[in-house]
Amino acid sequence: MAKNAADARSNTAAVQATNDDASASKLSCVKKGYMRDDFIHLFVRRPVRRSPIINRGYFARFAAFRKLLFQFLNTDDHTRKQVLSLGAGFDTTYFQLQEEGKAPYLYVELDFQEVTSKKAALIEFHDELREKVGATASFSRENGEVLGDHYKLLPVDLRDIQRLTDVIALANLDPSLPTFIIAECVLIYLDPESSRSIVGWAAKTFSTTVFFLYEQIHPDDAFGEQMIRNLEYRGCGLLGIHATPTLEAKERLFLDQGWQRAIAWNMLRVYSEFIDSQERHRIQRLELFDEFEEWHMMQEHYCVAYAINDALAMFQNFGFHEKDGSNASST
Ligand code: SAH
Repeated sequence: MAKNAADARSNTAAVQATNDDASASKLSCVKKGYMRDDFIHLFVRRPVRRSPIINRGYFARFAAFRKLLFQFLNTDDHTRKQVLSLGAGFDTTYFQLQEEGKAPYLYVELDFQEVTSKKAALIEFHDELREKVGATASFSRENGEVLGDHYKLLPVDLRDIQRLTDVIALANLDPSLPTFIIAECVLIYLDPESSRSIVGWAAKTFSTTVFFLYEQIHPDDAFGEQMIRNLEYRGCGLLGIHATPTLEAKERLFLDQGWQRAIAWNMLRVYSEFIDSQERHRIQRLELFDEFEEWHMMQEHYCVAYAINDALAMFQNFGFHEKDGSNASST
């Protein structure tokens, strides 16, 4: 695609603004009791109330992510581990893990400098965040950096692979340690060539790794076309979606770039077969709705994919296990 055509559908400020949207949606869920997050309110200027369907969708995303992350953290739990979050935005997982006493040895977050500068300022400003990055942490709002012993926030344009490599060294990430890489609603905004480069770079850089991906699929039906139009209208087109329009294509993205295993499920299946049934029952009582067709369609247009490289043979039991949540209704 011509660069100008891509530019018309996507501009950097609009893509960065999707982070504010995600934070506001998470806060909406927290206020309704879907999940606990004692920090997200510090990152939201204007709280909003989302519809029950949107709340349930964010809950599903949160629950699936947490379950896979904890599988990773709980595997050989005496081994030092790393988390690397690509396009982390204002995600609060690090602070939650610290609070729960579950933080890994090193947690690194990357985003555009405009975003990391704001995040650095907020972390420095709020005591409850600052204390979690450690007394020795250094802050630079100007550069958009926080450098703590076990937490780093650094600015990078993910499409610049050389800079990505430099930043990994700066953050002291150890390529031989087990590493959980997060790309939640990030790669889909990039041109397909950049996404492939990042996925390939990650496979080459880390040898014992789980790559967690959450993003949109199925651009080609009526719901998908509308979803894409809405985002393009806002200036944050899903530049990657036509290169990976199906679950198989998401798996292929990884397998073609040097990953040993890759699995993708849509969120309808993740919700009904992977998320714990007790949790599902709990949240289904929080807000009732009867637009099940819309709920199903929305969930069919998002997916979780994970890919694994397993040099240390740690992840044989990692991943979706159908039995986990299968004996409950999926509505
Ligand atoms: N992962 C977070 C935020 C998602 S919003 C969450 O799930 O809540 C998407 C984020 O990706 C934004 O913060 C945006 O600034 C970032 N992003 C998009 N393209 C990027 C790029 N090329 N380099 C760095 N960050 C990018």
